[in-house]
Amino acid sequence: MSVRSSRSRVEVLSSCAAVAVVLVVPASATTLNAQAATWPQHSLERPKPLVEVAPPQQLPVAAPAGAIVLFNGGDLSWWQSGDGEAAKWRVVDGAFEVVPGAGAIKTRVGFGDVRLHIEWMSPASAKGEGQNRGNSGVFFQQTYEVQVLDSYKNDTYADGQAGSIYGQFPPRVNVTRPPGEWQSYDIEFRRPRFDEAGKLVSPARLTVRHNGVLVQDNVALLGPTSHTVRAPYAAHADELPISLQDHGHPVRFRNVWVQALGK
Ligand code: MG
Repeated sequence: MSVRSSRSRVEVLSSCAAVAVVLVVPASATTLNAQAATWPQHSLERPKPLVEVAPPQQLPVAAPAGAIVLFNGGDLSWWQSGDGEAAKWRVVDGAFEVVPGAGAIKTRVGFGDVRLHIEWMSPASAKGEGQNRGNSGVFFQQTYEVQVLDSYKNDTYADGQAGSIYGQFPPRVNVTRPPGEWQSYDIEFRRPRFDEAGKLVSPARLTVRHNGVLVQDNVALLGPTSHTVRAPYAAHADELPISLQDHGHPVRFRNVWVQALGK
């Protein structure tokens, strides 16, 4: 069994001089973190998640009572550009679309622990390959990215696929729908905690359902998500905006709502 198995690890105990006892234990969050740290970022050798077909899902999913609706098909009044100006993305057909070159957009208010529902669609005419196809991203606190990518029959490194925690954790399975079809993310984000000296007390955590399928299960992030170089945690405010990435592709989003989570 590979020490990099995502399902289990093997511990060999030799407490008895004559007998080696082999225990197979389920992968824990600690094990997963150790595995993530073992793999070089964006390794092409890292096992790719299995492809599965997500079960049918009724979209759009209505916002529950009390949710903050960040986009309901009308305008981008909850969003702004990085410089604080009005968001320059395009509202079209009850959705909004990345305008390549316009830059990321972020919410006008900050969030801490939060549940987010968002629906997204890769461009129907799939162009490019790997990371250069239907790429965007949902960033919590402008720092921790759940990758958005057209991962339908599009090979790329495991920790950069749709549903990955970018550069850290591949999704458990690849349930990406074809380009031009709406897909959903339901995400629970727990912010990192820092003490008064700015030292990390507890890491950020993410649970992600892609098209209703659990692909990240309360994963403890290694630090801010990043490209090529893993960055350490740096203390930041408790509440910061959610942002969406402009990676140069006209990805669409719709039906975005959030609920604050209890402590
Ligand atoms: Mg991205």
